[in-house]
Amino acid sequence: MIYSEEVLQKTLNLGKKYLHEGAVADYIPELAKVDANKIAISVIENDELHSVGDSKVKFSIQSVVKVILYSIAMDNYSVDELKKYVGVKPSAKAFNSVIELELSDKSIPVNPFINAGAIVIVAILYNIYKGETFDIILKKARAFLGDDVDYSREIAESEKESSFTNRTLIYLMLSRGIIPNDIQVEEVLDTYFKACSILVNTENLAHMSYVLSNNGKNLKGEEIITERESRILRSLMATCGTYDYSGDFAIRVGLPAKSGVGGGIVTASNKNTGLAVYSPRLDSHGNSYCGVRMLEFLSKELNLYIY
Ligand code: GLN
Repeated sequence: MIYSEEVLQKTLNLGKKYLHEGAVADYIPELAKVDANKIAISVIENDELHSVGDSKVKFSIQSVVKVILYSIAMDNYSVDELKKYVGVKPSAKAFNSVIELELSDKSIPVNPFINAGAIVIVAILYNIYKGETFDIILKKARAFLGDDVDYSREIAESEKESSFTNRTLIYLMLSRGIIPNDIQVEEVLDTYFKACSILVNTENLAHMSYVLSNNGKNLKGEEIITERESRILRSLMATCGTYDYSGDFAIRVGLPAKSGVGGGIVTASNKNTGLAVYSPRLDSHGNSYCGVRMLEFLSKELNLYIY
């Protein structure tokens, strides 16, 4: 067993030293209310879940859900088909950048893990599933994360009320024809906000990490996504998962990962293990400050690098 109690505790203690660094996401008012001192690590190894810290504390999944959204899109279309609407290139600007969208080729979002890209994916899903879109997303989220997950009405509402930048992004894409202009804009945005507001803890994210790392199968051996989908998602996580920090993250941590402004980071590897961390204060790229430091430390201690 590589993830001993001792190494997890040592990593958590290291993380705690950075608890004062960074800031919680307050551009979504409801997120500013969280206890900024929470910190947790969950791992799955030899089919067993181990955690240290606040691993039962629920927080919103935020951008980590973009991995799940793209997996549903891949159930319906090939990556080449999806590339007409959203690319697979790393982003060079912040996750909600308007200028990056404006400057990208035909204003196609560079990848599905930034806001513009995920909003297009939700629009594509909405075109297929209409009023049932969020139910489909929640069902897939439960398959990745655990049967008991639900979303926070308060956070979804708070996002809706403060979503000026996301509205800018969707209207820019409507004006450029990336999203057809007969789409129900409010429905698409509501669905995106609800998806970002799904509540998880690090235990849930460790299960998701296990599925991604175990070629799509969960602990019970059930296929949640195909092997090919898991490989594509890991590739996108490696190149785009921590936005414009992805290059640094690859060097420092050496694992594919996806972060969210709720403070969670889910990793993926090529082994059948799971690893996820949480702490809500974010660095300037929107990644959990302590989370990145804990993963960097763990990778060094246990030689987790896969590149
Ligand atoms: N819901 C958040 C938003 O739309 C997701 C951003 C994130 O986690 N990076 O801004």
